Amino acid sequence: MSAYIAEWLRRLVIERANNQCEYCLIPLNITFVLCHIDHIIAQKHGGLTVSENLASTCALCNRFKGSDLVSIDNETGAIVELFHPRNQKWSEHFALRDGLIFPLTAVGRVTVTLLQLNRPERVAERDFLFREGILPLISSDL
Ligand SMILES: [Zn+2]
Repeated sequence: MSAYIAEWLRRLVIERANNQCEYCLIPLNITFVLCHIDHIIAQKHGGLTVSENLASTCALCNRFKGSDLVSIDNETGAIVELFHPRNQKWSEHFALRDGLIFPLTAVGRVTVTLLQLNRPERVAERDFLFREGILPLISSDL
C-alpha cells in the first residue's frame, strides 16, 4: 500500500538517512530499483505521512516489513516490536560485520528475521560494497 508522499518530504527522508536503507544500510543510489519510503507505523494502523513516521528503505526491506509492527522473538517466544528508525539507534540493535547484520537485542533479532536481512545474496552484496569502500563499517548516525 503506497500513499502519496510529497517530493520535498521524500527527499528529506532519504537525505536524512544519508541515502541508505535505514534497516539494512544498503546505499540506495546504487540499487537497481527505486528506493521506497516506509511508513514505520503503517497507515492501516493509524500511521501518518509525516517525517517522524517515515523511513528510507530499499525495496527488499520494504517488501518484507510490509505493514508489520512486531514479530515473535524465536529465542524467547515474546512478541517484540520491530526496529523503529526514528526512535531507536541502529548501532544499539545491530552490528555489521563481513556483510552480516548481527542482532544485539530482541528488537534486532526480530527485525533481522522478519526483514530477512541476512539472506545470502544480501550478505554477499553488503560484503562486496564494504570491501569496495562503498558501505561504511559503522553507520553510527543511524
Ligand atoms: Zn534495506
